[in-house]
Amino acid sequence: MDQRDGWIWFDGELVPWKDARIHVLTHGLHYASSVFEGERAYGGEIFKSREHTERLIASGKTLDFTIPWSVDEIEAAKRLVLEKNGLVDSYVRPVAWRGSEELSVPARNNKVHLAIAAWVWPSYFSVEEKLKGIRLEWSKWRRPAPETIPCKAKAAGLYMICTLSKDAAMANGYADALMLDYRGFVAEATGANVFFVKGKEIHTPLPDCFLDGITRRTVIGLAKAGGYTVIERHISPEELGKFDECFLTGTAAEVTPVSLIGDYRFTPGEACRAMIDAYSREVQPKRAAAE
Ligand code: PMP
Repeated sequence: MDQRDGWIWFDGELVPWKDARIHVLTHGLHYASSVFEGERAYGGEIFKSREHTERLIASGKTLDFTIPWSVDEIEAAKRLVLEKNGLVDSYVRPVAWRGSEELSVPARNNKVHLAIAAWVWPSYFSVEEKLKGIRLEWSKWRRPAPETIPCKAKAAGLYMICTLSKDAAMANGYADALMLDYRGFVAEATGANVFFVKGKEIHTPLPDCFLDGITRRTVIGLAKAGGYTVIERHISPEELGKFDECFLTGTAAEVTPVSLIGDYRFTPGEACRAMIDAYSREVQPKRAAAE
């Protein structure tokens, strides 16, 4: 990854990919004072770009820092990164963190940095896997309570248990892991939200201790427009047997059908297909739709 060609926007400058380096005594590295975004450009336009930038700034605020660039400046920087790298369909990764001025727990004397990289990332899961539905393992880690960690921020520290869960699942032959929350309700996958379908009803966990994904909210709107009733509520793992279909949503995952969670099986069908189609139409740049 660090030896690629291309350009990264780094604190206001475009620097060659290989030179976008930070010091080993960076606060963000030692104490997770770091927030990031995951975005996708389709046909040269980042889907819901401003919403992602606003979430990045809000995540920084949650971690008690102000990113020293405005929404408009970050929007312009993201466009520049796509242009300079000649990218049309790509993944975009802005990251903001506290620097290396001092190294101990307090962070307020450490400068806030911002970098934006972009690269081609066709699909989070392979296409064949997507059509069959992916297999999920239950994670042994639980999403923590809102009083334990600022769970609404897209902050690096919240991903430690995601990485542990995903690596364990993959080592056991699964594509991803599904986490419960601190109360034992179904929460989310390691980088995506989860939905369950029974007939024309779609149920999804209430996002009260995990990220209310931009894709999640988009898909809820599309499902309602498509005639589904969407119910956001606490879902117990024991209930999963009564659902017919299951899918994940996320910027990287897009809409990914699920065929198995632990011992529960699902058959990707009409609802999965409808949501994949509706989402892929929705993410296309609006100028293309108007042509
Ligand atoms: N939960 C987690 C833990 C994630 O990393 C992501 C991806 N950002 C999501 C949910 C989905 O969020 P979004 O739809 O905004 O990409």
